[in-house]
Amino acid sequence: MHKTLILIVEDEDNICSFIETTLKANNYSVITAKKASDALSMASSYTPDLMLLDLGLPDMDGIEVLRQVRSWSVMPVIIVSARSDEAEKVQTLDLGADDYITKPFGTSELLARIRTALRHSIRVATEEAVFRVRGLSVDFAKRQVLLNGAEVHLTQIEYKIVSLLAKHAGRVLTYDQMIAELWGPYAEKDNKILRVNMANIRRKIEKNPAAPQYIFTEVGVGYRLAEE
Ligand code: CA
Repeated sequence: MHKTLILIVEDEDNICSFIETTLKANNYSVITAKKASDALSMASSYTPDLMLLDLGLPDMDGIEVLRQVRSWSVMPVIIVSARSDEAEKVQTLDLGADDYITKPFGTSELLARIRTALRHSIRVATEEAVFRVRGLSVDFAKRQVLLNGAEVHLTQIEYKIVSLLAKHAGRVLTYDQMIAELWGPYAEKDNKILRVNMANIRRKIEKNPAAPQYIFTEVGVGYRLAEE
């Protein structure tokens, strides 16, 4: 069975080993990085299921690590920081962090944050999982989308778009994130193909494509699928 792999990015040895011990005791696989440069190369070579990211790193600000990771990945990232600055918290969330935990924190708080952040991406790993929101359901194993019990006939790429949004339901996915997930990190960042596909998807699943109730446009940002 696939164990959840967590990348801990933390330069302080005692905190790093505390988190590592806690996670291993709770059946997670763990890899660690003490520098931002190591974190970035490990994130792309191991593609962990979640990253715990300290902001104060010796070689680069953790915010810059987040920014770079988010340019090609939707992997959940939880910011772990000693700073309890509201503006910084908002900034990291805006940049796509899933959550924020301030030192010092307890074991149960840490584990709860991790479970919450993994909840969306666990839909990716769970083959039988079916995502449902009102009359719409996405069966990831059958690669099938149903609307009020009837199959919606989607093209391959339309299905990939709907399932990507469903796996991250409730969260805004930026255009660049979606393009990287759909066509790879080096694909041209051109929203036009995405927009054309989205218009076709909406014609198939929305009662009124001009006033969607499933897939929302976040103007200038990206798309978000409704969550129950
Ligand atoms: Ca630090």
